[in-house]
Amino acid sequence: MALLNPDLADQVRQATPWSSSGHEFNASACMNCGVCGAVCPMGIELLPRKLFRYVLLGMEDQVKENTETIYSCLLCKMCEVNCPAGVHIAENVRSLRHFINRQVFRL
Ligand code: SF4
Ligand code: SF4
Repeated sequence: MALLNPDLADQVRQATPWSSSGHEFNASACMNCGVCGAVCPMGIELLPRKLFRYVLLGMEDQVKENTETIYSCLLCKMCEVNCPAGVHIAENVRSLRHFINRQVFRL
């Protein structure tokens, strides 16, 4: 059984170069409405609704298992401009990529 990492959300924030400029990994506002997945040109449904929650819950293994999905996002923000909760989806994806670059690819 996978262990939880209670510091995961903080580690994602700390891996983000612009974290001191005011942007925070914001995912807790997500209402799980599904709009983001419906408008995504890549058909990505996992990102805000599951992967961001994995981060908040400290489910590090599940985040790393979905590296391919995290890198398939186009950062087009179609989801973000339609999100009723104001989740910074594309910026959050960029934060996750920085975290994975450090943790998985050792960059
Ligand atoms: S559109 Fe926003 S509130 Fe709805 S599931 Fe996606 S991230 Fe969550
Ligand atoms: S930013 Fe990524 S998740 Fe959002 S609509 Fe574009 S490709 Fe899909």
